[in-house]
Amino acid sequence: MMAKRDYYEILGVSKSATEPEIKKAYRKLSKQFHPDINKEADADAKFKEITEAYEVLSDGNKRAAYDQYGHASTDPNFGNGGGGGGYGGGGFGGGGFGGGGFEDIFESFFGGSGRTANPNAPRQGEDLQYRMDLEFEEAVFGKEGNIQYNREAECKTCHGDGAKPGTNPVTCSKCHGSGTLNVERNTPLGRVMTRQTCDVCGGTGKEIKEKCPTCYGSGHVKEKHSVKVTVPAGVEDGNQMRLNGQGEAGKNGGPYGDLYVVFHVKSSDLFDRDGSEIYYELPISFIQAALGDEIEVPTVHGKVKLKIPAGTQTGTNFRLKGKGAPRLRGAGNGDQHVKIKVITPKDLSSEQKRILREFAKESGIEVTEQDESLFGKVKDAFKKDRK
Ligand code: ZN
Ligand code: ZN
Repeated sequence: MMAKRDYYEILGVSKSATEPEIKKAYRKLSKQFHPDINKEADADAKFKEITEAYEVLSDGNKRAAYDQYGHASTDPNFGNGGGGGGYGGGGFGGGGFGGGGFEDIFESFFGGSGRTANPNAPRQGEDLQYRMDLEFEEAVFGKEGNIQYNREAECKTCHGDGAKPGTNPVTCSKCHGSGTLNVERNTPLGRVMTRQTCDVCGGTGKEIKEKCPTCYGSGHVKEKHSVKVTVPAGVEDGNQMRLNGQGEAGKNGGPYGDLYVVFHVKSSDLFDRDGSEIYYELPISFIQAALGDEIEVPTVHGKVKLKIPAGTQTGTNFRLKGKGAPRLRGAGNGDQHVKIKVITPKDLSSEQKRILREFAKESGIEVTEQDESLFGKVKDAFKKDRK
């Protein structure tokens, strides 16, 4: 297909030609090239070209589109018949192209912001989260306490409807309560219905003529809220507890959201804990380990006597039944596990060393004598330097 000539050029008029000027030029040329009059070979094609140019330039919408987009604006594939401004011909929806037209189409096709739920339906409020710090023992035995936090609460003056006491919100006069407005838009794909949030009621479907003086019409106020929390015995770090209705106020009379209390448990210097089991490491001397002993062991339930049999090795585990943490679900306590750590003595006196050598001899163990005099001299030298 040959490149199309410019319509203005075909008609021999300027781009700023008035409607009568275009009409006059067309009449003159159509007479000249009308196939019934003109018998030249290309008269037919010429006449069609003139007619096409006139059809576009004599129509305000088509002419504007042609001015903006050129010949593309008259392509039947470009846009949809029955487009803008009641124009029924070869299809350009004048003026609707660009300026967000496509977005609207996608919205209505794919349910973007165009899709709205009933704005007056009751909706539950937001859930909130509160971090509660617990000592190690508080987590084991549970605790009762009050916590305080800020939340959106229902306004007590208007009971959440946002209207001044004695008045009531009325159905929005513009959207009739739907909260949305259907707007017709012209686009290259034709006329498309889009939905917009009602500008009068902001999507609530209700108009508040006289606003509540406390909440200024929102129906909510920020408040410092206090709630009693009963921490169950046996909670662990990271556990959370849901408190129904202690979250934020709902909308349109919907219920409050929930509060999630998340426990953060501090570690203990003495104990490790895994669920209901508690772990403790007991340091004993090699003499206690060798001869056996009865030792007081700390537990979260108080001190407990533990019998260490003679010949206990380091790393041996003992179990103190029922001395662990309460089981969160189920009865009773877990156990405390005691792991023995045998400590080798340091800084022995010369008498202690003598006795140990005696012991070694008795046991048939040969211990090489250390040259302690050398270490002693070095130590003395340091001492002198420091003075
Ligand atoms: Zn209020
Ligand atoms: Zn409205």
